[in-house]
Amino acid sequence: MTPPVLALRSVSKHHPGGVTALDDVSLQVRSGELLAIVGPSGSGKSTLLHLVGTLDLPSSGTVEIDGRDVSTLPDRELSALRGSRLGFVFQQFHLSDALSATENVATGLLYAGVRRRDRRDLAVAALERVGLGHRADHRPQQLSGGERQRVAIARAVVNNPSLVLADEPTGALDTATGHAVLDLLRELNRQGTTIALITHDRDIAASLPRRVELRDGRIVADTGSGTGTASERTVVMRSVR
Ligand code: ADP
Ligand code: MG
Repeated sequence: MTPPVLALRSVSKHHPGGVTALDDVSLQVRSGELLAIVGPSGSGKSTLLHLVGTLDLPSSGTVEIDGRDVSTLPDRELSALRGSRLGFVFQQFHLSDALSATENVATGLLYAGVRRRDRRDLAVAALERVGLGHRADHRPQQLSGGERQRVAIARAVVNNPSLVLADEPTGALDTATGHAVLDLLRELNRQGTTIALITHDRDIAASLPRRVELRDGRIVADTGSGTGTASERTVVMRSVR
């Protein structure tokens, strides 16, 4: 059986100053899932995102991406894994104003060993997947907020990553535009992209097939890893402290 795309085993993270941001978190995500990681401010979402994004290491426990324990990888392999297996979508888009939409998307291929002349074609194809083929030569300033987020989503999926991490992807958008971006993420998931969406918004979380709920650095509820029947197999865990 193929390993889960993401496995956290008893992960804790202590920040300097004695703050325990994550406390014994275990979580598995299988290929094809669409899940929300939801919790109020301070619950540990960003810390979790940094660990899963291999931008930081746990104080204890292990983080595995596609079955590989990231703490055992040298920096160069870690960057390669990040570049080839993970895609990132941020609240504030993080696009380069100096680059066209196509060039922004092509940066998602820089560390993937794709030849320069192929990058452009793949980037344009990714823009077409997010409905922005007609904006390929526009710069971010010439695009609406929703369009910018679509460019960022195209950049995240251009490399067919094992897992897309979306951190409050609708947080900077008005409600209608946010819904359209969520619909796009759902559509990409239907086409096979595995997506973890980090949010403090309970309504957004409730609209996704699986919800992992964080409170004070612990998972207090997980509706279960999903093959479509997740909601019927709700597992609720209450932390005992
Ligand atoms: P969320 O993203 O859910 O708001 P965070 O992961 O940012 O939560 O924070 C979880 C806890 O860890 C909070 O108490 C926060 O103050 C603390 N924390 C986060 N990052 C740091 C840091 N770099 N240094 C010290 N404490 C931190
Ligand atoms: Mg945060």
